[in-house]
Amino acid sequence: MLEFDTTLLPKLGSRIGENVHTDSESSFEVKSPIAEGALGQLPICSKEEVDKAVVVANRVFDEGTWSRMHPRDRRARLLNLAALMEKNAERMAQIETIDSGRPLREARNVDVAQSIVRLRWYAELIDKIYGEIAPSSVDRLGLISREPIGVVGAITPWNFPLMMAITKVAPALAAGNSVILKPPELSPLNALVLADLALEAGIPEGVFQVVTGNGRVTGEAMVRHPDIHAIAFTGSTEVGAHIMGVAASNGMKKVSLEAGGKSPHIVLNPECASDQMVEQIVWGIAYHQGQVCDAGASLILVGDGHDELLQKIQARFQSLTIGNPYNLEINLSSMIDANHMNGVHAAVEAAAQRGVNVACGGNPKDVGEVGAFYQPTLLTDVPQDDAIFTEEVFGPILVSTNVKSVDEAINLVNAQRYGLAGAVWSNDMAQAFQVANRLRIGTVAINTYELGDIGTPFGGTRESGLGRDRSAHALDNYTELKTTWAALDTTW
Ligand code: NAD
Repeated sequence: MLEFDTTLLPKLGSRIGENVHTDSESSFEVKSPIAEGALGQLPICSKEEVDKAVVVANRVFDEGTWSRMHPRDRRARLLNLAALMEKNAERMAQIETIDSGRPLREARNVDVAQSIVRLRWYAELIDKIYGEIAPSSVDRLGLISREPIGVVGAITPWNFPLMMAITKVAPALAAGNSVILKPPELSPLNALVLADLALEAGIPEGVFQVVTGNGRVTGEAMVRHPDIHAIAFTGSTEVGAHIMGVAASNGMKKVSLEAGGKSPHIVLNPECASDQMVEQIVWGIAYHQGQVCDAGASLILVGDGHDELLQKIQARFQSLTIGNPYNLEINLSSMIDANHMNGVHAAVEAAAQRGVNVACGGNPKDVGEVGAFYQPTLLTDVPQDDAIFTEEVFGPILVSTNVKSVDEAINLVNAQRYGLAGAVWSNDMAQAFQVANRLRIGTVAINTYELGDIGTPFGGTRESGLGRDRSAHALDNYTELKTTWAALDTTW
């Protein structure tokens, strides 16, 4: 089995202006979920160091080398970056695995491959966006154009470090902004590789910078900085809500928030329980050990007779293999760290103590390797007001509950604090569409748990966030609409 080669690591430091910055007053250890010890140290950028990056970002924005470059040329350089990522794909995949515990198979086929797809998508989009001409009298011209906002601060989570970064950085750069990325402290490495490759691709110095650090010091300094004009955040609901408040009172900067979720499957008929459906429900929560914002985390079973479905899910959970992510055959790997896994386990234990039925799993798993491995867990007959049913756990925990009617299922979903995604399973397509239509959530899947790709918007309602990532709609997070009026007569 492959072992991580530390010569693949990028130089450990923030990328501020022309410097690799390594000597902040405080630093944090770069740890791997699947290796003993630390891979190195990264600076916790202070308020002053964030300010240095902001000064550079605004200078290059005002100079216009990127912000006013012909979109066709920005496209070319972003495509260069995609080609360089392709050239470095194996290195980036191995870094993603050591940094976040992603199975190497998925790091290669999903994280790196999809990041390249997403980057190319925005590169190809940006020179095909047109402005508008407003209806007006013949002697007036009203132009509506999309302009970059200025300096965008991107703050990202640890679960899919490269994909989450690219999903924000690609449209923000394509639109002509200067971007400062703060990667997560638990998996910061590929952000540094990305910054190095961006320079090599011809993206001018200072246009894309990376400040490393934690949320309390570095992230907070970004959100409070008066000369950062937009914050694009993906992470927890609690931090997202905090950022919204701070941004409101610090320049009323534009925020887009992709936050937490507790996405349900509504199962309308017991006879839906095909093997294909079971597979989708199982992978919808087990994938990446449930550390996925739109994991299908609850089952809402309408009517009676769903025992067969639950038994099939349980059997499939128990058949999934868990182990070292460098083993290309394993299904599931380590969680991000023991601390997070212990939190997930504590939530399950507390639910069990309240009387919730643990049908399978419910414990860490010793696989004889370094890591935090947890058994896929099914909890059944869960009361709808129990915390394990209503709150995001961010682990491989599927909770199921029974309701009497379709209306009860819909009301349950619409009353949740989260509204990121969900699925409807029904043999009756018309009924499935009617239910989908009444769900107030960002993405609904019907008879599948595939939730779209880069071409469709993704984001939530209620406490799952604000704004949409992916698709051309994401440009709304990174551009301002400007109206320009001109007189076409000589009366002035
Ligand atoms: P988190 O909220 O703890 O951290 C996210 C990022 O915010 C990190 O970079 C962190 O350093 C930073 N941060 C923390 N406090 C901050 C502050 N006060 N000011 C500025 N920045 C701050 O989230 P996490 O634990 O890294 O990720 C897991 C969460 O992310 C889950 O809730 C998950 O649902 C969510 N998530 C959502 C999506 C989505 O698209 N909706 C995608 C992936 C993850």
